[in-house]
Amino acid sequence: MNRSPKDEPASPVKFSQEEMQRYSRHLLMPEITIEGQRRIKAARVLCIGAGGLGSPSALYLAAAGVGTLGLVDFDRVDLSNLQRQILHGTSDVGRSKLDSARDRLAQANPNVKVSLHEARFTSKNAQSLVNDYDIVVDGSDNFPTRYLSNDVCVWAKKPNIYGSVFRFEGQATVFAPHLRGPCYRCLFPEPPEPGTVPNCAEAGVLGVLPGVIGLIQAIEAIKLIVGLGDSLTGRLLYFDALKMGFREFAVRRDPACPVCGDAPTITEPIDYDAFCQARGPVVQPRIPTVSVHDLKHKIDNGGVMVLDVREPFEYDIARIEGSTLMQLDEVPDRFGELPRNREIVLMCKSGARSAKATEFLIQQGFTSVFNLEGGIAAWASEIDRDMTRY
Ligand SMILES: [Zn+2]
Repeated sequence: MNRSPKDEPASPVKFSQEEMQRYSRHLLMPEITIEGQRRIKAARVLCIGAGGLGSPSALYLAAAGVGTLGLVDFDRVDLSNLQRQILHGTSDVGRSKLDSARDRLAQANPNVKVSLHEARFTSKNAQSLVNDYDIVVDGSDNFPTRYLSNDVCVWAKKPNIYGSVFRFEGQATVFAPHLRGPCYRCLFPEPPEPGTVPNCAEAGVLGVLPGVIGLIQAIEAIKLIVGLGDSLTGRLLYFDALKMGFREFAVRRDPACPVCGDAPTITEPIDYDAFCQARGPVVQPRIPTVSVHDLKHKIDNGGVMVLDVREPFEYDIARIEGSTLMQLDEVPDRFGELPRNREIVLMCKSGARSAKATEFLIQQGFTSVFNLEGGIAAWASEIDRDMTRY
């Protein structure tokens, strides 16, 4: 590129000769050009976490020329991070992740303004942090932070680019109800039972995998900034490194969602740790339950009906062989289809939704219905360890 910034129309966003050369491969592309690069430079992206997902996404976003990159983290670099957290090097072990990230990002692109927020992302600071940015890339590794970043982004009408990794699998999507997509709560109204979904520290993760997912998040951020292509809004992308394949699931906004629905009931930050620690809604003790081991036994002996009350996209991701799908919302209209002379075990992801359905069926006079404790998450951790988790 030989064009000088002086040739460009007046704009608040200017480029030095060094930047023109640095971004020349973008400027050459008719879909981006200097106008797209201006948008990239004007953009403010907040990366939650400078770990496995935040490392590749922040590095590439910086290299691509995102003008302001915010990083939230409170951790220090540990030797066990280096297998995947490529923002940090061996000499950074023991340093704060943000100091290490700042140095590495400055090396990648000194034109980027890196704003460090050395703190936990909490109910107290989340809104003021998110309000300061255009887009959030959520690279967090725990459920309280995901629910918090989701809720705050919904309220602030900021796209929340979601990614998660587990062992050999990862998933990504863009939550943006203001762009007609669902939010995290539409897909996962309740957190999993504590202990049913191990994290990377417990179950491990293939070191290269967060690179794939973090870069999908970075690509989605750039597309939203420039206004390119079709975003992952409304689509959950699933990646399996062992099978080396992607699958895609359509996901919809839930009009009954407590945060982005038509009549929201959660309108300000809650206590997310307590929300995720709670073992689902209070389950009436009179609801009979079975463990995943009991269910395995019943299935092996034959005769039991397994009724899955999750959403169709969840059923597509993972299901118990031979189970029947009837979404929780449909049960009041369709329970007449269910046999009254057979044992029915109801299940969902973690046992909370199926508890509601079990209670409903008992009220309708069903006498041999059971709720599966821990849902398919427990099944995946105790019975079928090859099952895809989500
Ligand atoms: Zn929602």
